[in-house]
Amino acid sequence: MSVTILGTGLAGYTTAREIRKLDADLPITLITADDGHNYSKPMLSNGFAKGKTAEGLKQQSADQMADALGATVLTETRVTAIDTATRRLTTDTGEHPYDSLVLATGAQQIRLPLEGDGADDVVSVNTLWEYATFRDRLDGKSTVAVMGPGLIGCEFANDLCAGGLSCHVIGPDAYPLERLMPAPAGHALQQALTSLGTHFHLGTVVSAVNRHGDGFRLALSNGEHVDADIVLSAAGLVPDTALARAAGLDTARGIVVDRCLRTSDPHVYALGDCIEIEGLLMPYVMPIMYMARALASAVTGNPAPVSLPAMPVAVKTPVHPIVVSPPAPDAVGHWHCETQEDGGVKARFESEDGTLLGIALTGAMAVRQKVALQRELPPVLA
Ligand code: FAD
Repeated sequence: MSVTILGTGLAGYTTAREIRKLDADLPITLITADDGHNYSKPMLSNGFAKGKTAEGLKQQSADQMADALGATVLTETRVTAIDTATRRLTTDTGEHPYDSLVLATGAQQIRLPLEGDGADDVVSVNTLWEYATFRDRLDGKSTVAVMGPGLIGCEFANDLCAGGLSCHVIGPDAYPLERLMPAPAGHALQQALTSLGTHFHLGTVVSAVNRHGDGFRLALSNGEHVDADIVLSAAGLVPDTALARAAGLDTARGIVVDRCLRTSDPHVYALGDCIEIEGLLMPYVMPIMYMARALASAVTGNPAPVSLPAMPVAVKTPVHPIVVSPPAPDAVGHWHCETQEDGGVKARFESEDGTLLGIALTGAMAVRQKVALQRELPPVLA
């Protein structure tokens, strides 16, 4: 019996660590298309102001991880197909048999449909290696256009402006973080980021990116244009389901797993940004930690359904700190917002009977109330 883990991001390496806690001898092989360096992905959107290069964000190499985990790590190896009937992986370097397989393949950046001769120069940052490219291009530049006023886009805007650059944030939403927070909370963030040097262009989208001098000119659907040295896409991520779908595993928005992280094939498990569990996508650090523990139990013969408490997410916008725990997509209720003395907002999403179902806290005063409010929130998966 052995376990093969596809992916060496947070989900892959954490799963290997959790399996090791339960079984010192089980052979573990991790396979990754990249060089297998362990790094903290959340640092990609707040590393610039701290002067962090991609090299500086590398923690352990694949060899160091292999030693620490007592595992084999195959790097620069792309898996191109999974045959669940014969339990074999096809990779670009050969075939690899497996007993139990864990898919931890992460998510893919959404590519926006863009016209123009600069469209192919738009960068996105979902990996350390993309961060390296982004940092190289930033050298000596002063203005960045960020497509997407969501969580990642706002974190980059805060980081780039705090590092001395000027930023344009562009997107169809009415206010930043519209999918996670009510309007007063979003406007408080918008005001704080604006004071730092971010220019918002909301209610509009980029239709074309054309080369212009040494940089780019972005045509917006509202008829305006924006000039920038670099264009960063932060339009969101979608679970990487391609391999699983081609292998005939059940997929919806993500690879469908049950509460023991099993896919529709009894020998294949999945976790992290690539999955969907009970209709939910949870592309954040904390759910991965819980799921890795449950997956490790299941794969070592003691399946126990995962339970997930409320896990508010801290948005890394230090100019106006934010903690959000949005209500479940089907929750019925209303946001109740209170402006704080420091200009921040405490927003509670409550059902008709006053049960707390979600929170959005912005600014230092509101964020201080996180622990008390978190206790009141219902679990994500009871
Ligand atoms: P990934 O880290 O993407 O790993 C995927 C792995 O699969 C890689 O090793 C890749 O090489 C491998 N792979 C994929 N396909 C193949 C293939 N066919 N063959 C071989 N290998 C393959 N979350 C928070 O909770 N708080 C934060 O502050 C926060 N900040 C973030 C900031 C940024 C900029 C981003 C992008 C995300 C942030 N997140 C944050 C989300 C969090 O980082 C992710 O949920 C988490 O890192 C995902 O880990 P993963 O292992 O599922 O995926």
